[in-house]
Amino acid sequence: MRFDLMTLFPSMCTAFTEESIIGRAQKNGHIEVNLWDIRDFTEDKHRRVDDYPYGGGMGMVMQVQPVFSCVKAVEENLGVKPYVIYLSPKGNKFTQTMAEKLSKHSEIALLCGHYEGIDQRAIDMCVDEEISIGDFVLTGGELPALCLIDCVARLIPGVLSDEECYKDESIYSGLLEYPQYTRPASFMEHDVPSVLLSGHEKNINTYRRKESLRLTMERRPDLMDRLCPDKEDLKLISEIKIEKECGD
Ligand code: SAM
Repeated sequence: MRFDLMTLFPSMCTAFTEESIIGRAQKNGHIEVNLWDIRDFTEDKHRRVDDYPYGGGMGMVMQVQPVFSCVKAVEENLGVKPYVIYLSPKGNKFTQTMAEKLSKHSEIALLCGHYEGIDQRAIDMCVDEEISIGDFVLTGGELPALCLIDCVARLIPGVLSDEECYKDESIYSGLLEYPQYTRPASFMEHDVPSVLLSGHEKNINTYRRKESLRLTMERRPDLMDRLCPDKEDLKLISEIKIEKECGD
């Protein structure tokens, strides 16, 4: 899968795309991330890419010409039209389900805004979808674009090793994940739950499922509403409720 990230600040992104799992996935050929500097496409002799908003108001707006030319250059380089996403607080809110749908594309181009955003004509002419990573405003689209790349890339076969598999993780599994522990077994009188040291696989699985259910009931009752609990889950849920009543 190929990602093309268009930004005014490519160097902000290189550390992320070259390190850790994303860096390894690129080296192994599972994904490719190309960074494009929108400024390279401006026709302005002073390399200007932004201007004051028509109608007045605060801040600067990224101009249509450099953005349009950059998207066209990506398209030409690819030889096909990629699915173009503009990262924007006005967009559809990003979810794991959206990431799964996006992972079916073979080419995704990501457009990062800055300042007050991008001239609407560039969005109308070039963008297939606007995506927000949450109800908050950042200074630029780079972090949102990298979040999206990270989340989608993990779903591409081969990017994660078996041990890192995403299927048991929070949200994807339908629940929040159980708490994780590693060595030492005891730290400043805080002990790892003894069942995890027992080596008894069935008990460990039951403990983890119960803690997953407990956390999800406490923090994300909306996820519980969508869960289809089996007999074992129902038993654990009623135990959790009794334990909570006794604790209150
Ligand atoms: N004036 C814009 C508005 O009110 O909708 C906000 C512009 S913001 C300061 C600058 C850029 O950051 C945006 O063009 C967008 O690319 C990015 N951005 C900020 N918050 C974001 C979010 N929650 N999700 C995705 N992109 C975001």
